[in-house]
Amino acid sequence: MDYQALADLLFPNVTETPDSLEEKFPLRQLPEGAVVTRMAPSPTGFVHLGNLVQGLTAERMAHQSGGILFLRVEDTDAKREVPGAVEVLINTLKHYGIHFDEGATIDGDNGAYGPYRQRQRADIYHVYAKKLVSEGMAYPCFCTEEELSAMREKQEANKETTGYYGKYATWRDRSAEDIQAKLDASAPWVLRFRSTGSIENQFKFDDLVKGKLTITENDVDHVLLKSDGIPTYHFAHAVDDHLMRTTHVVRGDEWLPTLPFHIQLFKALDFKLPKYVHIGPLMKMDGTSKRKLSKRKDPELALTYYKAEGFPVEAVYEYIMTLLNSNYEDWRRANPTADPTTFKFSPKKLNPAGNLFDYAKLTDVSKNEIAKMDAPKVYALLTEWAKEFDEDFATKLESDSEFATKILAIGRGGKKPRKDIATWKEAKPYMGFFYDEYLQEPVFDEKFDNATIIDVLNRFLNSFNIADDSGIWFDKVKNITEDIGFTTDMKAYKADPSAFKGTVADVSTFIRQAVTGKTSSPDLYTVMQILGEQRTRERIQNTIARLS
Ligand code: GLU
Repeated sequence: MDYQALADLLFPNVTETPDSLEEKFPLRQLPEGAVVTRMAPSPTGFVHLGNLVQGLTAERMAHQSGGILFLRVEDTDAKREVPGAVEVLINTLKHYGIHFDEGATIDGDNGAYGPYRQRQRADIYHVYAKKLVSEGMAYPCFCTEEELSAMREKQEANKETTGYYGKYATWRDRSAEDIQAKLDASAPWVLRFRSTGSIENQFKFDDLVKGKLTITENDVDHVLLKSDGIPTYHFAHAVDDHLMRTTHVVRGDEWLPTLPFHIQLFKALDFKLPKYVHIGPLMKMDGTSKRKLSKRKDPELALTYYKAEGFPVEAVYEYIMTLLNSNYEDWRRANPTADPTTFKFSPKKLNPAGNLFDYAKLTDVSKNEIAKMDAPKVYALLTEWAKEFDEDFATKLESDSEFATKILAIGRGGKKPRKDIATWKEAKPYMGFFYDEYLQEPVFDEKFDNATIIDVLNRFLNSFNIADDSGIWFDKVKNITEDIGFTTDMKAYKADPSAFKGTVADVSTFIRQAVTGKTSSPDLYTVMQILGEQRTRERIQNTIARLS
C-alpha cells in the first residue's frame, strides 16, 4: 500500500506540515519547572463543583510555579453545546478566583497558541491525520452503524471484548481499490488509528495523583476523526496539548481507561508525553454508602447553588483547598490570616480515590470565614448577594448602610468572634428583626401568663435608660427578676426548679422577644443600643398592647 498516496487522496487540501506547525507554536520560554496547564471544558452551560476542584488544582499548579493556565473550549460535540456557555463558564470561574492567562475569552481568543476553540482547529488536526495516514498509522474505515452493531452483537454473543480490534478491524488492511471504490461512491468514513498494542503487554506509568500504575496496552483501533472531519476527544487532546505546549494535563479520572490509547497516540505523533494529574470523583454519603455526586440528584453539584445560597467565595475556596490537600487545615491553623495562595499546593496530596463532599464541613468553614471578615466587608458582600437574590432585603440594607454595618459589627473582631451565619441567606433570619417590616410577633412560653410578662416589660420600660452601660443595664434586669419573685441564682434554680417561679434568663427572654421577636438574638444590650431608645420603647409598648 502506498500510504503517501492514500494520505493525499484523503486529505488533498492539507498543505501545511507538522514542521511548520512546530515553528508556528514554538516551545514556551518559561523558567525551569513552570507548569503549563489548562481547563478544557465542553461548553454545556453547566459548571459544577468538579470543574472547580479541577480548576483550582490546575490554577495552583500553574501560578505557583510561574507557569501558565489557559482555557480551551472543547466544542467538538455541537449537539451538546449551549449558547452562552463559554461566558457562563468564564464568569463563574472568575467569581471563584480562577483567572486564565491565555485562551478562549468572552470576546474571542487571547494568546499565541490558538485558536482555543476546537471547532476552529479542524485544519490543524488534518495536518496530523494526514501525517499518520502517510506513515501507515491511520486508515479510513467505511463501516456503517449497522455493521458496527452487528459486530458488537457477535462479540457479546461470543463473550468477547467489544470494540474494533484485531480480526474485527475489517478496514485495517483493505486494498487501495476497495478504499477508492467507497470514496467514488461518496461513502462516509471515519479515520481510525492503527493500533500496534497488545493486551498481553503491560507497562508502568506514573500519575501525579494516582501514583504508580500498571497499564495494559491498547489494541483497539479507536476513531481519530469522525465522518464530518471533526476529531474525537482523544486525537484533539494529543494535538492540542502538544501544540499548546501543555506540560501537565489536569483532568477527571474518567479518562484513565483511555490513557493507554493517549500514550500510544503521543508516541505515534512523535510528541513528548505531558505529565498527568487524574483527579478522582466528588462523592457524597447517601445513607451509609458513598456515591458520586450526580447532576440529576444533587443540586449542590452546581456552582450556581453556592452563589444562590450565599456562600462567600472565600469559604468555597477554603473548603475546596481543605479537600484537595490534607495538610491545608494545619497550615491554616498556623497561618490564620495568610493569603491561601501562599500555601504550598501539591497535586501529590490529592486523594487518589476522590473526595467526600461534606456539606456540614463547608458550612463550618464558611462560618469561620465570615467571622474573620470585618463589618464593612460583610456589609458589601451581603448587599451584593441580596441585590441578586433578595431585592427587598438589599433595599433595606442600602437605605442606611451605617445602621446595617453597625448591626453586622455585633460580636465581630476580638479573639473569639461570633460565628452566627454560614451563608448570606442566613443573614435575614439572623438580623432581619432590626427592620420593622421583618419583625415577627413573639410567641411567648405558655408556662408564663401574660400578666407576668406585661409586668416585666412595664418594669423594664420604667427603668430603661439608653445611656446606661451594659453592667448597669443588666443590674436593672436582675432587680426586676428579684422584685417579681424570680431568681437570679441559676445554681439554686438548677438544683430545684420547682422552688422558683422563673429565672433571670426567663426575664431576659421576655424582653428579648419583645424587642427582637425571637428567643435568641445577638447581645440584647447591643441590639437596643443600635435600635435606639425610641424604637426599643416602641417595640416593648407594642408587645404590651398586644398582650393586654
Ligand atoms: N472536554 C473534556 C471534559 O470536559 C476535557 C478533559 C480534559 O481536561 O482533557 O471532560
